[in-house]
Amino acid sequence: MQKKFKLLATSSSGLESLVARELRNLEIENVSIDDRSRVFFEGDLAEIAKANLWLRTADRVKIVVGEFKARTFEELFENVYDLPWDELIPFGCQFPVSKAKSVKSTLHNEPSIQSITKKAIVKKLQTTYHRPEGVPIPENGAKFSIEIALHKDMATVLIDTTGDSLFKRGYRSEKGEAPLKENMAASIILLTNWLANPSRAFVDPTCGSGTFTIEAAMLALNMAPGMNRPFAFTAWPWFDEEILKQEKALAQKQVRKDLELDIQGFDIDGKMIEIAKHNALAAGLSDVIKYKQMRLQDFRTDKLDGVLVSNPPYGVRLEDEEAVAALYGEMGKTFAPLETWSKYILTSDVAFEKHYGAKATKKRKLYNGTLRTDLYMYFGKRMK
Ligand code: SAH
Repeated sequence: MQKKFKLLATSSSGLESLVARELRNLEIENVSIDDRSRVFFEGDLAEIAKANLWLRTADRVKIVVGEFKARTFEELFENVYDLPWDELIPFGCQFPVSKAKSVKSTLHNEPSIQSITKKAIVKKLQTTYHRPEGVPIPENGAKFSIEIALHKDMATVLIDTTGDSLFKRGYRSEKGEAPLKENMAASIILLTNWLANPSRAFVDPTCGSGTFTIEAAMLALNMAPGMNRPFAFTAWPWFDEEILKQEKALAQKQVRKDLELDIQGFDIDGKMIEIAKHNALAAGLSDVIKYKQMRLQDFRTDKLDGVLVSNPPYGVRLEDEEAVAALYGEMGKTFAPLETWSKYILTSDVAFEKHYGAKATKKRKLYNGTLRTDLYMYFGKRMK
């Protein structure tokens, strides 16, 4: 097995710099963002385990099997054939080419790119495993999910190490109607100033299934987000289980159990509060986060210098728009007295500031799936 891999961490667009920062904080080598906003890094099996276990803002970690020019199907076939499949895919394993993408390239028929790629790998493995031509190679073992992406005639061939996207941490079994992905929630918390001093109050007054509150607690306590979920790479015959076990044991030791936190979630909907409690319990945080059924309009506090993060309803349907505008107005009135608090509100409503009644200090564009949203940031007044 080759020792070092070139690796790629994928994420929602706009979050790449956060992913790169997380990788650097993990002391992973040669982290770089290329001109197409792709986050590359290097590592061996331990880094594959570590990145999957710890990345909060990314979607997946992929092995870069190779990169080459491909302007014709012959060139594509030859170059795919030449990649080290013999070292990567043991006999009997599944190797679906699950995705083919082409952007601004001579070869643009994605199904053909996909099938040529598959054929080239089959041919290579037939040779490797001395199978006569025409006799298919069995594919019933561990899965190596392969992707090929062409961009301006340059092909990148990848193997996914992650499986289900990393936003699935394993604690959220129920999620309500408009949940935020866990990696988006973690990214937003990283964009606030709360982690600079996480003993300050943290409130999500529209907490739904509790995503912000749970991600905030996990970040502050330095809990690895991937402790309780499976990964594709663990099924691979050449992946030594001990490596992940060791990374998990290390992660366990790094939890900051000593830290006192003040995290609260509210929601008008009692059913959502039950769900949030259930999810916090699954994340091992039922003692850390307090939930209460309450209208955000009733939120009052004497605490200073807190952080409020909210993902209120967006008016997707026309008839909801007025109600949502009124709600934003009430948020503005309710939060205005909290002068020393910093507030971060995520919505797709471009008229948010008007309804809320105050201009944001700063805005940041974020994609919640395909929906364009903005994070409206209101920085609190500095305390003397
Ligand atoms: N971020 C959440 C989803 C929030 S959806 C998650 O990841 O699950 C918006 C939430 O705001 C809903 O759960 C809804 O019940 C709640 N809500 C709507 N009006 C409210 C009000 N006036 N006060 C408090 N919560 C409200």
